[in-house]
Amino acid sequence: MALLQIQEPGAKPPQREQKFAVGIDLGTTNSLVATKVGSVVETLPSDDGEDLLQSIVHYGDDGIKVGREARDFLVKDNKNTVVSVKRLLGKSQSEIREFGYYLPYKFDAQLPDGDPAIITRHGSIRPIQVSAEILSVLRKRAENFSDKEIDGAVITVPAYFNDAQRQQTKDAAELAGLKVLRLLNEPTAAAVAYGLDAGAEGNVIVFDLGGGTFDVSLLSLRGGVFQVLATGGDTNLGGDDIDRLLQEWLRRKEGLLSDIDDKAVTTLNLLATSLKHRLSFEESVEYAFDSFTGVITRDELKGLCKTPLKRMTSVCRKVLRDAQLEISDIKEVVMVGGSTRMPAVRETVADFFGISPLVSFDPDKVVAIGAGIQAEVLVGNRSSDEGLLLDVIPLSLGLETMGNLVEKIIPRNTTIPVTRAQEFTTYKDGQTALSIHVVQGERELVSDCRSLGRFELRGIPPMVAGVAKVRVSFQVDADGLLSVSAEEVSTGVKAEIAVKPSYGLQASVVEEMLKSSRENAIKDMESRSLSEARVDAERLMEVVKAALLEDAGLIDPKEKSLIENKCELLTNLLRVGTSAEIKQATEDLNLVTVSFANLRMDAQIAKTLHGESIDSIVSE
Ligand code: AMP
Repeated sequence: MALLQIQEPGAKPPQREQKFAVGIDLGTTNSLVATKVGSVVETLPSDDGEDLLQSIVHYGDDGIKVGREARDFLVKDNKNTVVSVKRLLGKSQSEIREFGYYLPYKFDAQLPDGDPAIITRHGSIRPIQVSAEILSVLRKRAENFSDKEIDGAVITVPAYFNDAQRQQTKDAAELAGLKVLRLLNEPTAAAVAYGLDAGAEGNVIVFDLGGGTFDVSLLSLRGGVFQVLATGGDTNLGGDDIDRLLQEWLRRKEGLLSDIDDKAVTTLNLLATSLKHRLSFEESVEYAFDSFTGVITRDELKGLCKTPLKRMTSVCRKVLRDAQLEISDIKEVVMVGGSTRMPAVRETVADFFGISPLVSFDPDKVVAIGAGIQAEVLVGNRSSDEGLLLDVIPLSLGLETMGNLVEKIIPRNTTIPVTRAQEFTTYKDGQTALSIHVVQGERELVSDCRSLGRFELRGIPPMVAGVAKVRVSFQVDADGLLSVSAEEVSTGVKAEIAVKPSYGLQASVVEEMLKSSRENAIKDMESRSLSEARVDAERLMEVVKAALLEDAGLIDPKEKSLIENKCELLTNLLRVGTSAEIKQATEDLNLVTVSFANLRMDAQIAKTLHGESIDSIVSE
């Protein structure tokens, strides 16, 4: 039974203080900011009345310009005008070079490979700084609108963004003076805008077709939380392809197949795009080009788009296959991106999935609106019953392995709920128990991470080292509750614990842990390499010493003392040596024990075959 709230007669119910939260769609071509206006979340326009801010930044003699003003410099000053910076976030210089498409910028070669920066007249500018300029314009737009400082922002990222790309998006937002409440996957934001999070459980396709790229995401809604089951797409498919097909059609139709000058090409391109746009609202449109006039119908355009439409459905088919789902398992399809305004695209999607796609929101704004709704929930303006709380893991979760090392099982920023498993094995012959130490953090050594709990798996049948198969599963549920279980696969022996990884960790502590992981990255790699070298050395010495105890009689005393000397040298190096020295000495010990190992193997075989003539074995 619910408790009744008792109140003084006539007293006003206490008002929850409304915080100022925004959602930001930081796009490759355009970016938007949305917030609550009256009772609904809407995107905010610039002073010129435009909601879309072109994601272009110009570093000029008279300062930095963003958006439409920056676009004017695309041709005049392309080396100082940055477009599509989203594609550079979280990438190294060599990854950027591998893009395969032309970028007019020069990258600062003085910086390490992992740290690309564009050389502009303002000096070397990192991608996060460029993104921060775009975000700053949106922040100011929102703050001017409400005359208040922003309390928190939800920023959207593509579902396929990796950890580095997500981190840089967050760093850019912080650089722009925004408090990031959460990064939200773009398809999830679109589904939230349509209120699908509050609906029944099921699978949702988010179909995002822009100018140059196509992304399909398959989300599953269970227990009020979205999970990305599969993503697919084509980075070279979009409205631009349709413009091209329409230009070719016009040229064929008007016999303009031979060379035409640049000016005519530009006019033709603009004409094609405008015809395509108008055909989204009219059944047929007339056109005039030079001395030609004509008519094109919606059906004719659909006929021209056969190949791109087919490519779209085959991506959808692949995404379904990857998630092992059927078309009938899809409950809703959400349309995102300017090109989903095309009736041909909508019809193709409706035919393929057998349901009408959701199109009532402006496909350019739907992601920002979803982010704005989520931001409202996260600052506490709405109760979480009115919108789901999606969460990601703030720090990686893993376990301790030999040598004080951390094996990461679930990387940070993974959306929850999530389950991941990995197999481990025993280190010693006859080992019957395994101690499992669960840790949280980004560093390589256990001592630099946060311990979350320990438990033991007992009752493993005695086996030779490395034979037992222990499957350790990490499961984080929607509330951030982690349970870890371990099972020896051949016998089914099992043990488990439950821990709460994200609780009790202040954002500042998380930040501190991330900072220290970045600062110590190189030192940590060296420590890891040293620890791994030590573990390998100890493992080899243990085997060699056990063999000497058992079978020293197989070798002559000289060989035995050589092996013992190498062991002694290695033991000393374990205390004072570098990882390279230990690795070298381990290899040396390995080499001097090769003939001993062969002799032992021969003796073992002879023992096994005792009583049988070699001939009888060979002839079998
Ligand atoms: P986006 O990358 O999401 O901004 O989408 C840009 C693409 O949407 C461009 O190829 C535009 O030509 C296309 N687009 C915008 N409006 C329409 C429309 N009314 N009909 C067809 N395509 C459109």
